Amino acid sequence: MSAERARYDYDLFCIGAGSGGVRASRVCANYGAHVAIAEHGRFGGTCVNVGCIPKKLLSYAAHWRDDFSIAASFGWSVGEPSFDWPTLLANKDREIARLNGVYERLLLDAGVAIFRARARLRDAHTVEVGGKTITARHILVATGSWPRVPAIPGSPLGITSNEAFHLEELPRSALVVGGGYVALEFASIFHGLGVATTLAHRGERLLRGFDGELCERLAGEMAGKGVKIRLRANPARIDPGVQVAFEDGSTARYELVLFATGRKPNTANLGLEDAGVTLAADGAVLVDRYSRSSVDSVWAIGDVTNRVNLTPVATAEATWLAKTLFHDEPTPVDHDNVPTTVFANPNLATVGLSEEKARERFGAVDIYRTHFRALRDSLSASEEKTFMKLVVDAASQRVLGAHMIGRDAGEIIQGIAIAVKLGATKPQFDATIGIHPTAAEEFVTMRSKASG
Ligand code: NDP
Repeated sequence: MSAERARYDYDLFCIGAGSGGVRASRVCANYGAHVAIAEHGRFGGTCVNVGCIPKKLLSYAAHWRDDFSIAASFGWSVGEPSFDWPTLLANKDREIARLNGVYERLLLDAGVAIFRARARLRDAHTVEVGGKTITARHILVATGSWPRVPAIPGSPLGITSNEAFHLEELPRSALVVGGGYVALEFASIFHGLGVATTLAHRGERLLRGFDGELCERLAGEMAGKGVKIRLRANPARIDPGVQVAFEDGSTARYELVLFATGRKPNTANLGLEDAGVTLAADGAVLVDRYSRSSVDSVWAIGDVTNRVNLTPVATAEATWLAKTLFHDEPTPVDHDNVPTTVFANPNLATVGLSEEKARERFGAVDIYRTHFRALRDSLSASEEKTFMKLVVDAASQRVLGAHMIGRDAGEIIQGIAIAVKLGATKPQFDATIGIHPTAAEEFVTMRSKASG
């Protein structure tokens, strides 16, 4: 490494200090590499600033509505609850500012040089940043992604999740466009905070690619709580006001339109093409299993590669890359059995294969499912149902997928994911003693195969 060091200013120059870039820079530096990072915005990227963290805080806030609604059944009288959006935003912003500082400190403590400016590739080993020209043995692109808005007339009248975290005041009514993670999460947040919320999705079913039964049940649960869900509905035009004309000819007025219609990789104006880096049609950096681009010294991880766009995947890709680059341990990415949660209300969490995918790949599968009213809701009028489903390979009895809708589904599926990742079988699930009384125990007590 020392001869190489003499040739270049740094062993690694990372562009972007989000989840992936910060993790990669730190771990590479800990392995002894001389590392620099460039970030023109706030430390922590999408997840910390306009994603996972503030979203989860808003989601916690929204859940109080349910808690207040069942409190009386446990003997509490809580009066008429009222909600103050500016207080929540101020507290949220304080926490985000703290996390920005934590991320910066993590980099400094690891000895990573920080450039607070936009960086751009000049060639395979050179970047320009803040008026300086820097060379590096390896360049890592970890620039993340940005919300994408459909090109319909009036779309600038709508907002994206970026702005939703900073609204001066909550609207009385909102249209959320899309049927993915962001749409479902924000529809639940808005509804929980008292906004009359409509979700319009162009497709037949929410959450493309997820287990179909799960998607249908989630739509039912969200509708049961009061979110108006319109499927096969898509805005064609937005007029000032904010009057929305849908493709089917219907119109409606909302105080706010939120586009949650996907994200695009941040690869514009980075000089990637000039350096010879091949991009996919959607702009993502094309990489191999080791996160290497078409240029040997340029690597990319996280959302900018548009593989599995989740924070813990980006940080895992960062760790694998650091091992490959500076620990003599070439480590390919492992995107199998990635657990994930949609923090809608109720939560939907899943690991492994959907029933549809499992049938496609394995042919015969056994399905186990349970659908029940949680003990927590049993004293109240709440109609909410918890749903769990196991997809099992009929031949080997291996559990291929575990799916849940219900309170804290993400917390529960995280543990189940270890078993699924280790290849646990249904008999091994059955041999596990449940914790009583919990909802989670149902995962080890489902005995009867569902018919069909
Ligand atoms: P998604 O890709 O999950 O969903 C986009 C949605 O918008 C889909 O329902 C899609 O419909 C719809 N859509 C796309 N283009 C249009 C269009 N032109 N007009 C109307 N509808 C359209 O994107 P999100 O923005 O929700 O989230 C981005 C990514 O961020 C996610 O994929 C996920 O990886 C990550 N994320 C993870 C979270 C978590 O872990 N909890 C939370 C939030 C985001 P269709 O299905 O028909 O294509």
